[in-house]
Amino acid sequence: MSNPFSQQAPVPGIKKIIVIGSGKGGVGKSSVSINVATSLKEKGYKVGLLDADVYGPSVPRMMGALHQKPEIDKDGKIIPITKYGIKLMSMGFLVEENQAVIWRGPMLFKAIDQFFKDVLWGELDYLLIDLPPGTGDICLTIAQKVPVNGALVVCTPQNIALVDAQKAIDMFKKINIPILGVVENMSSFTPPGSDISYDLFPKGQLDTYLDANGIDKITEIPFDPHVAVCSETGIPFVQGKPESTAAEAFRALGQSISNYSN
Ligand code: ADP
Repeated sequence: MSNPFSQQAPVPGIKKIIVIGSGKGGVGKSSVSINVATSLKEKGYKVGLLDADVYGPSVPRMMGALHQKPEIDKDGKIIPITKYGIKLMSMGFLVEENQAVIWRGPMLFKAIDQFFKDVLWGELDYLLIDLPPGTGDICLTIAQKVPVNGALVVCTPQNIALVDAQKAIDMFKKINIPILGVVENMSSFTPPGSDISYDLFPKGQLDTYLDANGIDKITEIPFDPHVAVCSETGIPFVQGKPESTAAEAFRALGQSISNYSN
């Protein structure tokens, strides 16, 4: 049988597709997606961000684009919303935030297909895809449809998050998506005015696991309460608090992605 993950058609105009996944929700996957997108944009790249978390799309709110509706051109193509110079597409633009969306397999396939075929992405250096948490159908559908250059896996330090992150890593390996590395988010907290940094979560076996499996930890992003404030107010944190240590870590992550040549 032919491998369904080896015959994806490239998306015209898009040079690289990077997916951002996580084992579980709430670890900062969307925050990483948004801030990496903004960092790459700041470097002068043309960037698109596809919020593929169709069950809980948070990119519209976090990018200050809530309640915006994309326009449709005369050929029926969807024009992405542009915010902070980044082209955005999300199921959140098509359904109301409080509306539950019940997806069945074929609908899901069609929605994902539309995100690539019917959205006028134009020329992009990077399309970042914020995946839903876990290892479900959407990741597999995307991996079957388009050539993905690499995956970032976002994780928090404790073992309970690592168990799920391992599943996401295994999934990417099985479907032949190169793992760029793991981002350890909320790795520590340094109170304002202090030099002492505290672990918010008990440190688990993440480093040991990564070493044993030859996977890079690309960066550690500290906890910064302004990340959540920026999310709520719709400002990418790297722009809202550009001088902070956490913003530097997000920018370093953007730099690593631009260094990656696959
Ligand atoms: P996910 O996409 O994995 O569900 P989010 O990016 O939505 O996670 O983040 C979950 C919550 O944690 C949000 O309120 C977000 O602002 C907050 N958050 C994420 N990363 C950090 C961080 N480094 N410091 C502080 N808060 C963070």
